Amino acid sequence: MLVDRSRLHIALQRSGRLSDLSRDLLRESGLRIEAGKNSLSARAANFPADLMFVRDDDIPTFVSDGACELGIVGQNVLEEFALGSNERGFDVLAELGFGQCSLRIAAPERLPYEGVQSLSGQRIATSYPRLLRRFLDERKVDAEVVQMKGAVELAPRLEIAPYICDLVSTGATLEANGLRPVETVLNSQAVLIRTRKPLDEEREAIAGQLLSRIDGVLATKESKYIMLNASEEALERITSLLPGAEAPTILPLHGRPGHFAVHAVCQESVFWETLQKLKGAGASAILVVPIEKMML
Ligand code: AMP
Repeated sequence: MLVDRSRLHIALQRSGRLSDLSRDLLRESGLRIEAGKNSLSARAANFPADLMFVRDDDIPTFVSDGACELGIVGQNVLEEFALGSNERGFDVLAELGFGQCSLRIAAPERLPYEGVQSLSGQRIATSYPRLLRRFLDERKVDAEVVQMKGAVELAPRLEIAPYICDLVSTGATLEANGLRPVETVLNSQAVLIRTRKPLDEEREAIAGQLLSRIDGVLATKESKYIMLNASEEALERITSLLPGAEAPTILPLHGRPGHFAVHAVCQESVFWETLQKLKGAGASAILVVPIEKMML
């Protein structure tokens, strides 16, 4: 297939933890994607963008080289790549709020651990040798880094290394292998990246459109529309309690002089505690509704 330079190319993880969530984000941004699990690429039917389903550790290279203009990848993969290259060929545009995990050093339950110096002179198995080496160097710990491509949790049992450094999400895999986390090397989530290679005018405009839709999707995830009634003297206190709301709309209530309706978009989570505080400050008829789409 020849590369169609009139379309945007977005690199996504083919299979793995970020794969479905990355596709979901693009679908929520309005792209109709008709591709099976085994496809290597897909055309958005209603937007000038092609999706490339690749290995996650290829995504930083494809975006840095400009083969794909955008990519969705875990910070763990991105930072490991960046430590191994002289020049940064990408910019991080947004943290996407999914794929959260931590790169952690874990020790066998049976070994005592008294801080990072316990790692001195020890072997640590990992698929993230550069991130681990940076962590150790920053703390002046002289340990041997043993690189493995996968199944790192097996290293202690196979006597390859007593310690490991691997991604942890729920911690269930560590526990199942008799290991416990002792240090955090990196906290990670999925990010949207963009090539630093300049785009022609047409694709710059397409990228701009997609990015503003993605910004809108991310904003609506946390945002809520809140409506309530209040008397004039309570207005100031009530508006100061609205989380992340700028310039709420205040409308007079028909037939109730001195009473107003307050409408606001809250760009932070609205918890039950917030509603209780609003009620305590004199608000009544409080409604919190989800926002389906938002363009900032
Ligand atoms: P868990 O048992 O939930 O802590 O998951 C740990 C296993 O899942 C390890 O084998 C990790 O390599 C892998 N893992 C956890 N989170 C991620 C992630 N965000 N991306 C890729 N692999 C992950």
